Order: sequence, then structure tokens, then C-alpha cells
Amino acid sequence: MAQPIESGIESPLSSSPGAPTPGEVGADFSEAEGWFARAGALPKTLYLSLHALCLVALWNGPSPGDLALCAGMFSVRMFGITGGYHRYFSHKSFKTSRVFQFVLALLGLTATQKGPLWWASHHRHHHKYSDQPGIDVHSPKEGFLHSHQGWIFNGRWDGTDVEQVDDLARYPELMWINQWHIVGPVMLGVICFAIGGWSGVLWGLVVSTVLLWHATYSINSLAHVWGSRRYRTKDTSRNNWMLALLTFGEGWHNNHHHYCASARQGFYWWEVDVTYYILRVLSALGLIWDLREPPSHILRANRVR
Ligand SMILES: [Zn+2]
Ligand SMILES: [Zn+2]
Repeated sequence: MAQPIESGIESPLSSSPGAPTPGEVGADFSEAEGWFARAGALPKTLYLSLHALCLVALWNGPSPGDLALCAGMFSVRMFGITGGYHRYFSHKSFKTSRVFQFVLALLGLTATQKGPLWWASHHRHHHKYSDQPGIDVHSPKEGFLHSHQGWIFNGRWDGTDVEQVDDLARYPELMWINQWHIVGPVMLGVICFAIGGWSGVLWGLVVSTVLLWHATYSINSLAHVWGSRRYRTKDTSRNNWMLALLTFGEGWHNNHHHYCASARQGFYWWEVDVTYYILRVLSALGLIWDLREPPSHILRANRVR
């Protein structure tokens, strides 16, 4: 008989006595959290405008420098999301100092995906209630577009449920940047302007951010419908090598749902996981430590193939 897997996240809803109903779960998220949540249609307008600006950028054509800046800003910020917001703030799959924790938070902040507590609270919620219709934050069972980006504009998920991230809420500096997350993209815009003028802003900030958004969203949408399943999990997560290359290792999503406490998502050497390689370098430099690995009994448990 299958044994329950230690995942690093609390038990799923189905095993909780007095489990909440769809109307109850996530109610705390809708509390306003500063100017962004009260900004009405402004965030959505900005979001669509940045997509339109990408068309302008493509029409004008990039220089080699523009492309290099775009690729560089995409890569650095992808690690901010995967190594920072996801594997550290959401899952605590390794340890670090308070100073480097703040560096990871700033890196994630530049990705324009709101603050670390907002991101982690929604992500922990996703793991607890994966693919439960009406409860999960972004299940493709409620429509592919909803899981990809529609949920972001649903007011229900505007706020940060601090109870989900009370381990992070103890740090005032994290609470501050969680509220004033606009500081991240503004900082990045200034850097891009200093490097390449307005063309630098267009490719380093605008195009790179739109690509980064959709790469990140693909894990919430595509990685729950496209790929193979190695482990029998209670959700629809898949492993997909193309998504793993695009997102620095996050495409091993079925591995991740099977054992989300691990700092590595590619469980075997042939499963390329760039985020894990960077984490190993940071560990060798002494900036982070205690990287968690999947134990051998976890690797063998609940296998479908
Ligand atoms: Zn998932
Ligand atoms: Zn996760």
C-alpha cells in the first residue's frame, strides 16, 4: 500500500478534519495590501501595455546589445524567482543568512511578480490544495487561461495571507518590500537605462519581463497538462524537459509536487536543473547551506514509471 510522502508542506485538504469549502479557502488573500491592491484597473492596463510595447520593440528590431541585455535580465531574474521566491521563500529548501535572504528577496522583486510574501503565500496554497476546483489558486481544471494568467487579475488573490507565511513575516524588511514591491522594477528600469538608454529599458525591462512572466506562468498552466508523470501525486503535475530548460529546472514539476522540500527538482543527473547548479555554486561560496535532497526512499515511492 502506498505510503504518504513527506513533502515539506502541510497535509492536503482531503486529510484535514473540518476542511474548508471553496468559499472559505483563500478568503484572507483578498485583504488589501497597500497601493497596488487599491489601484483598480491600473495594473491590468500596465500589463497589457507592456505586451503592446513588445510588438513595438519587435517592429523596430533589436541590436545585438539589446538581445544580450534581454537574455541577461531574463536569466538573472529567472533565478530570482526559482532560487529565491520558489525554492527558498516558498519551500525553505536551503538555509542562508538574513543578509543573503534579503538579496534573494531583492532579486525576486525585480521580476515584477509582486513581493516575496505574496508569491510564497499563494504558492504554498497551491501545494496544499493542488487542482482542487474552486480552491487551488491556479488549476488548469478551471481553464487553461485562468491557470496561466487569469487568476492574477482575480481580486480574490490580491492580498497576502500572512498566516501562510508567518515564518517570513517575522522580518520587517521583507514585510516592507512585500508592500512596496514596485521598488524592484523601478530599480531595474534605472539600471537598464544606465546600460542602454531607452532601448535598454525596452529590451532589458519590458520584453524581458513579459518573457519572464509567461515562462513562469507556464509552470502553473502547461506543467499541469503537458508532459509525463513519474510519480502518483494528488494533482495533475507533469515533468517536461522543454519547460525545465526554459525555467531553469522548474519543468520537473511532477518531481516537485512529489517532494517539494527538495532544493533540486531534477532528481537525476540527466534532468537538467540550472537553478540547482547555481545553488550548488552559492553553497560552495558559503552564501547558502543545508541544501535539502530527496532521500532514496522518496525517489522510489509512489512511482508510476
Ligand atoms: Zn503545481
Ligand atoms: Zn513549489
